[in-house]
Amino acid sequence: MRKALFAILVTIPCAHASAASGDSLVTSAQIPGATLRITVREPIDDDKATEIVEWLRTASSDVSLAYGRFPIPATSVVVIPTGRGRWGGDAAVSFGRVVRVGGEKVEFFVNADRPIEEFYKDWTATHEFSHLMLPYVSSRHKWISEGFASYYQNILMARAGRYTAREAWQKLHDGFERGRDSRPELSPNQAAASGVRRARMKIYWSGAALALLADIELRERSGGTESLDVVLDRLQVCCLPSRRTWSGPQLFSKLDSLIEEPVFMPLYRRHADTAGFPDVRQALARLGVRTIGGDVRLRDNAELTEIRIAISGRDELVSAVAGHPPAKKRTADRPARRPAM
Ligand SMILES: [Zn+2]
Repeated sequence: MRKALFAILVTIPCAHASAASGDSLVTSAQIPGATLRITVREPIDDDKATEIVEWLRTASSDVSLAYGRFPIPATSVVVIPTGRGRWGGDAAVSFGRVVRVGGEKVEFFVNADRPIEEFYKDWTATHEFSHLMLPYVSSRHKWISEGFASYYQNILMARAGRYTAREAWQKLHDGFERGRDSRPELSPNQAAASGVRRARMKIYWSGAALALLADIELRERSGGTESLDVVLDRLQVCCLPSRRTWSGPQLFSKLDSLIEEPVFMPLYRRHADTAGFPDVRQALARLGVRTIGGDVRLRDNAELTEIRIAISGRDELVSAVAGHPPAKKRTADRPARRPAM
């Protein structure tokens, strides 16, 4: 679980200040809506650094599949090599985090010895870049920022063709089940309080559940003209980048101000201080996401099948999209010690 342990530390200042020396590669990458300034630290050799830069360009472009552009026009990305067996074990990406001090910086700690195909299948970069669609949310409401990033990491990787739709819904379903089992006596706000232990899955997946419920309600009531993507597009236009800390209610009130009828604060009032887990089972069933012995099956004759397809795309085989190496089977490329998220 080391990776998840560190992934939760997003958006805090860190001690890994960028150094002027020791950089094996500094370059920039143009993606829709943004320029990334990418630093790959030594000792990663030039060939692998070039591959990693291309992976980052691809993963950051995933986020533009939400509303057509990357949320922060100027973002720094720093890749730091770690030794085998440290932090994330043998995982290609040990962990990542967003640092917001004088601008947005995303750091990735990687095992450069792993084949580049494993980087493409890894969700960490899509998760961290998805964080940038929201401003910095106070740590006591981190279940919102972690939840939205956890929701988007899965649906964006499906839209990008790096997960099948079924894989994405399987991961969401499994995450919701882990969230339901995690500290059921606590509310999301209680779980996110400092000093609370063994509540990580509740923090990540209760927020993802609210993101899904909001997305469905927006799409259903508008006939598809509104969605979480659309609201976050408007949030980017009005409010990003932001240099202040937002509380959960401040963020959700702002999101509600960008749509005709509120969705987010009603969900907050219903769930933020309520023990247990948001009921997503009925929502998944309406989307046509069924499980047989824990395995997700997608049904195309469900009440909200079209909304599910709008969220994640159709359940087509993962294929080589431009710039993406062909994905491998999940069982073949998931390191044994990789934590479940
Ligand atoms: Zn995160």
